[in-house]
Amino acid sequence: MKVAVFSTRSYDRKFLDRANIAANSPHDLEYFETKLNEKTAPLANGFPCVCIFVNDTADAATLKSLAEQGTKLIALRCAGYNMVDLEAAEELGLKIVRVPAYSPYAVAEHAVGLILMLNRRLNKAYNRVRDDNFTLDGLLGFDLHERTIGVIGTGKIGTIFAQIMNGFGCHLLGYDVHPNDEFSGISGAKYVDLPELLAKSDIISLHCPLVSSTYHLINRDTIEQMKPGVMLINTSRGQLVDTRAVIDGIKTGKIGYVGLDVYEEEDDLFFEDYSNNIIQDDTFQLLQSFQNVVITAHQAFFTQDALTAISQTTIANISSWEQGNELSHEVKVPVAQ
Ligand code: NAD
Repeated sequence: MKVAVFSTRSYDRKFLDRANIAANSPHDLEYFETKLNEKTAPLANGFPCVCIFVNDTADAATLKSLAEQGTKLIALRCAGYNMVDLEAAEELGLKIVRVPAYSPYAVAEHAVGLILMLNRRLNKAYNRVRDDNFTLDGLLGFDLHERTIGVIGTGKIGTIFAQIMNGFGCHLLGYDVHPNDEFSGISGAKYVDLPELLAKSDIISLHCPLVSSTYHLINRDTIEQMKPGVMLINTSRGQLVDTRAVIDGIKTGKIGYVGLDVYEEEDDLFFEDYSNNIIQDDTFQLLQSFQNVVITAHQAFFTQDALTAISQTTIANISSWEQGNELSHEVKVPVAQ
């Protein structure tokens, strides 16, 4: 089957080609470096399947255009599906499939990496030694042992993150709308309500999805409830955080450290090379000017293991649809509670 694969880089092609060749009946994959949006949708004319990633746009207008051109299946190469207008897809008869889990370890481990970098100022220390400066002023950290970690969203990634932090000897507080036994089974872990988590945590790490109820979950009000000097880690989705409120929290000293793998307005920045351009996003530039902020460009998922799993599941999802099998990874409009 012909598949138009958007937002592809060399690494996507390498892993998708490998998984496709290994499939029983390989698909005809055509790679586009550009993102999918209403303007680029005509590139997929005549492709029954369109394959997209986190910063592609599958809003109502784009989906309508794709459906009119003959697309029937949208295969997401990711777990999150906040970029898809599910109601519009349902109305247009488009099926949506995703990769619900690939390597939760990749994202959880990256969150821990951000914590270690921020706490022990590893980014500064590395540059200092390269500069033949062996002083320690400004590099003072704290022991993670006995510190309290707040985990917002204790699903696959949040629970693995909690297990790793348990290994550091941390106390763990979890908040989730659907608590699970795996998290509460970790020694030293307990569920609390959001205000208690905010008030008691030395480090808060976000692992919940972006849905309407979690948009700007971290805002002026929730920041106000946090411990002074708190460390905030977001490897989930940028829009969970009101960036302007976080900047103000950093400026007053309420927030002591920020580690981000995602950013509210990342769509026009991340996965692109701006090293010879002027970045127009003042908020992003201000944010990254602070010494106690570390930003990575949505790379938490980026391990060999995760790319292998993403590619294999994506090809399997497409094959299932082509063969008329049940779609085990279909995303549907949530049923109203
Ligand atoms: P998951 O579905 O296993 O877990 C999400 C958890 O969040 C669930 O337990 C759910 O009940 C909980 N949740 C939902 N709404 C909530 C709310 N309002 N408040 C608190 N908790 C809530 O998902 P996962 O595989 O652990 O992934 C978590 C998120 O990580 C994804 O949604 C995605 O946004 C992000 N992610 C980021 C990257 C990256 O590269 N940075 C890669 C993969 C996933």
